Amino acid sequence: MVAMTTRSCPCGRSEPYEKCCGRFHSGAAAAPTAEALMRSRYCAFVRLDAAYLLRTWHPRTRPVRLDLDPAMRWTGLEILGTTDGSAFHTTGTVTFRASYRGGSLHERSRFQRIDGGWVYVDGEFLD
Ligand SMILES: [Zn+2]
Repeated sequence: MVAMTTRSCPCGRSEPYEKCCGRFHSGAAAAPTAEALMRSRYCAFVRLDAAYLLRTWHPRTRPVRLDLDPAMRWTGLEILGTTDGSAFHTTGTVTFRASYRGGSLHERSRFQRIDGGWVYVDGEFLD
């Protein structure tokens, strides 16, 4: 497992995992905003939770299977901006930088709300 230096959630928020993304991963709650879903998906990458990633992927763009690389060491998530994506919207975007040992991923992701739950549609690489 990923070694944690603090008890805060891997997504970068100060709450412990169980009170943050863990609620979404377990299915106890649904991410209320596109940003919350984005954070929980980053956190799922950290925790190698491929099932959660597939479950929160739009059926139209979802890969058949997802093989996560256990050697990948994610080191942090920075949310750079959002558009829409609240409880009052059906679409939204989240621009972020996700860092890993040796590099980072700068992306603007598109999200859609289906049956009340946010799902990831696709993303555009920046830089
Ligand atoms: Zn979290």
